[in-house]
Amino acid sequence: FVVYDGVQKSYDGETLVVKDLNLSVARGEFLTMLGPSGSGKTTCLMMLAGFETATSGEILLDGKPINSVPPHKRGIGMVFQNYALFPHMTVGENLSFPLEVRGMGKSDREKNVMRALDMVQMGAFANRRPAQLSGGQQQRIALARALVFEPELVLMDEPLGALDKQLREHMQFEITRLAHDLGITTVYVTHDQTEALTMSDNVAVFEDGRIQQLAPPDVLYEEPRNSFVAQFIGENN
Ligand code: ATP
Repeated sequence: FVVYDGVQKSYDGETLVVKDLNLSVARGEFLTMLGPSGSGKTTCLMMLAGFETATSGEILLDGKPINSVPPHKRGIGMVFQNYALFPHMTVGENLSFPLEVRGMGKSDREKNVMRALDMVQMGAFANRRPAQLSGGQQQRIALARALVFEPELVLMDEPLGALDKQLREHMQFEITRLAHDLGITTVYVTHDQTEALTMSDNVAVFEDGRIQQLAPPDVLYEEPRNSFVAQFIGENN
């Protein structure tokens, strides 16, 4: 469903921060890009989101080059660490906005917004503003906003980084449940090994712009391909 075909990226025309990346994500799969800071995970996600372009190689979404489809027609929902909810809009308006952009009428919008809020158990908060919510509640709204237009693909970059441990574990569970229930393909970026191992169908372990190993969590844990993977997966576990 998502294919990176020989993708390279350089920001300065010299240093490659992503090096000959080949990766496929199947429809409905939950894939995590795991790796230390600076290993190129976010850059890979940004290229898939269309915020950055590859220096060479190609990214395909459902068989089409990603840049041949206008952003609002790609069916991609996104959740990033700093939430980026619109502060001047209520929670309901924040969720309604992506639907309005897609031309949905008012009554359908209201129905979809309430359904998305109920999914993250935030139905009672539609009229609040983001500033009146806790960090965890804002994160739930960001998740609902990414799901409200029923995207086929959701991209998440360290979406739980700002949350405390208990809430983080709860949200890990919620995200995987929603992704599986809704049949959404998810590409998830984190540097947290435990998060990657508990949430994913497959994990791509990044080091210095390359994937060192791509495998299901149990295989990574039991058969790390090299000492980098073994060491990185072993940390904090
Ligand atoms: P982190 O977890 O810290 O976000 P990451 O694995 O997501 O790390 P990237 O953010 O993709 O890594 O960064 C990879 C490399 O590209 C780093 O060396 C970074 O300094 C560089 N880089 C990222 N964004 C830019 C940019 N907009 N301009 C120039 N260099 C950049």
